[in-house]
Amino acid sequence: MMEWETVIGLEIHAQLATKSKIFSGASTAYGAEPNTQACAIDLGLPGVLPVLNREAVRMAVMFGLAIGATIARRSVFARKNYFYPDLPKGYQISQYELPVVQKGELTIDLEDGSSKVIGITRAHLEEDAGKSLHEDFHGLSGIDLNRAGTPLLEIVSEPDLRSAKEAVAYMKKLHQMVVYLGICDGNMQEGSFRCDANVSVRRKGDPKFGTRAEIKNLNSFRFVERAIEFEIERQIDLIESGGTVVQETRLYDPDQGETRSMRGKEEANDYRYFPDPDLLPLIIDEDFIAAARASLPELPDVKKQRFVEQYGLSSYDAGVLTASRELGDYYEETVAALGGEPKLCANWVMGDLAGFLNKDGKDIAQSPVSTEQLAGLLRRIRDRTISGKIAKEVFEALWAGEGDADAIIEKRGLKQITDTAAIEKVIDDVIAANPEQLAQYRAGKDKLFGFFVGQVMKLSKGKANPGQVNELLAEKLRG
Ligand code: ADP
Ligand code: MG
Repeated sequence: MMEWETVIGLEIHAQLATKSKIFSGASTAYGAEPNTQACAIDLGLPGVLPVLNREAVRMAVMFGLAIGATIARRSVFARKNYFYPDLPKGYQISQYELPVVQKGELTIDLEDGSSKVIGITRAHLEEDAGKSLHEDFHGLSGIDLNRAGTPLLEIVSEPDLRSAKEAVAYMKKLHQMVVYLGICDGNMQEGSFRCDANVSVRRKGDPKFGTRAEIKNLNSFRFVERAIEFEIERQIDLIESGGTVVQETRLYDPDQGETRSMRGKEEANDYRYFPDPDLLPLIIDEDFIAAARASLPELPDVKKQRFVEQYGLSSYDAGVLTASRELGDYYEETVAALGGEPKLCANWVMGDLAGFLNKDGKDIAQSPVSTEQLAGLLRRIRDRTISGKIAKEVFEALWAGEGDADAIIEKRGLKQITDTAAIEKVIDDVIAANPEQLAQYRAGKDKLFGFFVGQVMKLSKGKANPGQVNELLAEKLRG
């Protein structure tokens, strides 16, 4: 494996989150009854004319600005001709020679902590096709044209990726970006964000790229990683046993964990691209670009860097907390409500809160614990009303909807014991109950200290202030 290098370029399709289709007024809402959301334009009936959706253009421009790309002042829609049952027009409207977004880049973070800039060749606007349904039709295929005409942004990377891990890191970063921008809902189960992976291998040091295979329609990060891993091995085995890789389209079968040939280069479609005579060239002026720029949110990398500087977080923590806009907002609201302690807030948002969300399959927007409530809990840790350990119990009750932290602490009698006399009383009881351990400790068995701490905490039901317990216990054990 050592002498081989992998080369990968990704083509990612992001469905744009417009209300209506890219060239018609039909709804793009997911999950409607089949064929209830395809109008005459989406079906390409004779005599209809497409009208470009301004919002789809605005979203494409926002994306271009976010990746530092050039926005083409003039771009052209072309017809990509092919026959398929889910494409009743017989052609897909796309952009070919002159795409709206050209030459951008995205920085990805690698596992070893370094980062790498990945070139984005282009991003163009196009319409999605309908869907063929092969289940439930006993020997027949169903066609659902609801998706026909849904706006897509196809984002094409340079062949800059060198491993399946890098490809996944790039895809995740792009996913985060389009969701941040609010131009795509990012729902991969529903097909809103999907990927074609181009994969080739070459001997290390070889200046020329190898022949690539294109793996179509990968709709999860895991499938992308597995499909690429499989494909790399297949190509290396093939070459090492004297064969040659042929340029072809392949499909990934997740059940078998392998890619299989779908069609070779000879059977590749000749799309006979030509400018769509029904659509004028797309002219974008400075005002339009300026307005799109003004509507950009704080971008993920900028927010992450700000979290490092403003809150003193590690780069890792800042990365986790800025994974989504909602999570970043939740964190910042918590810090604001508590009035400081950014590290404590980070630990709780990334730790207990994230754990509970994960366990219940909820995302941050559905958190039953509000930022105000979490801050209320952290306030009581800060003023030492409760210990960190007891706080976990309070959090569980918060999650279950038992009211605010103060009410829960009161109701359950969880207030930390900080009264020295009360703690001394517990310590005396523990020492009296364990004379043997006391003798051993005094004879030099230091590690029994932990045993005594444990007993005191147990007897006080976890409520004794740990700092005071340590201090007072050390004194008493010394005798
Ligand atoms: P096509 O027009 O056939 O789609 P492109 O030149 O647009 O081909 O490339 C499509 C994708 O394939 C791009 O993401 C590009 O980076 C990638 N790619 C091109 N050549 C190679 C190669 N030899 N190995 C891996 N990926 C490649
Ligand atoms: Mg392509």
